[in-house]
Amino acid sequence: MIVTRASRGPRPLADMTAAVGNTPLVRIRHVARELPGIEIYAKLEGFNPGGSVKDRTALQIIRDAMDAGRLVRGQTLIDSTSGNTGIAYAWIGALLGLRVTLVMQDSVSEPRKQLTRAYGAKQIFSDPAHGSEGAIRMCAEIAAASPADYFYADQYSNESNPKAHFLTTGPEIWEQTQGRITHFVAGIGTGGTIMGGGRYLRGMNPKIGIVAVEPAESKHSFDGLKHMPTSIIPAIYKEAELAEKLSIKSDDGWAATERLGHEEGLFVGHSCGAAFAGALTIARRLHARGEAGVIVAIFPDFRERYFSAPSVIV
Ligand code: PMP
Repeated sequence: MIVTRASRGPRPLADMTAAVGNTPLVRIRHVARELPGIEIYAKLEGFNPGGSVKDRTALQIIRDAMDAGRLVRGQTLIDSTSGNTGIAYAWIGALLGLRVTLVMQDSVSEPRKQLTRAYGAKQIFSDPAHGSEGAIRMCAEIAAASPADYFYADQYSNESNPKAHFLTTGPEIWEQTQGRITHFVAGIGTGGTIMGGGRYLRGMNPKIGIVAVEPAESKHSFDGLKHMPTSIIPAIYKEAELAEKLSIKSDDGWAATERLGHEEGLFVGHSCGAAFAGALTIARRLHARGEAGVIVAIFPDFRERYFSAPSVIV
């Protein structure tokens, strides 16, 4: 039995899946000081057991597929992922006794490869020249060639992905802000976070602004994010549901990430800087109009995982 909602507390957890979700929401105090009347909060998804927001998605995908009999023992879960989702499938698969195969670009950072290997996942590498789209195509081909052997999780089309955020991320933010949230900001990778979280929050209060963040450049430096105009649009991503989409330049997102380290003590991944730059754009706009706001930005992971460990310590 898999438990999706965490109950972190004084009692032992049944297993690590019970520690997924219920991440802290923290006020960004110093960087936002220049904007009185505006509250900015970060939802620190790096506190999930696998170290990212994608634990929620992977757990929901696996649970729904097992419940529906679409993923059965003896089959292999396969998906294309540049990192965080793969890490999540890998640890949950290890825990539940499922085989996991990940198709990733050969250019993925060494720590990413090491992490998924540590959980016993099999890796298949695609040609980096064909980008993340090439990895998606290769994965679909492998799964289609042996449908009995594989469960193709397909995070880009799988409704369990936004559902994870509808059931957990959205309600947590609503509770943690006591319903005061005015804007929800998240980067777009598959679109699962912004779609599912946004749907829940808009259902609670239709006035909440659902703001997606994407890289401004097609060749960008935000691990986990997609430049939508030049990408295959994920089936789960419905742009019409957004209040707006902000384009953040790599340089600006990286500068924002640095500020979070220096001024807030938050050592987070660069997609967090992109989301934060988006939150600041909304905050400055509200401030210029003399309006108040409670802005929540999703911070998908911490930055340690992007470092390579030296193989020889001297
Ligand atoms: N940031 C990082 C670091 C990620 O790994 C992801 C997932 N690809 C995202 C942002 C975007 O999340 P989503 O897939 O829910 O849009």
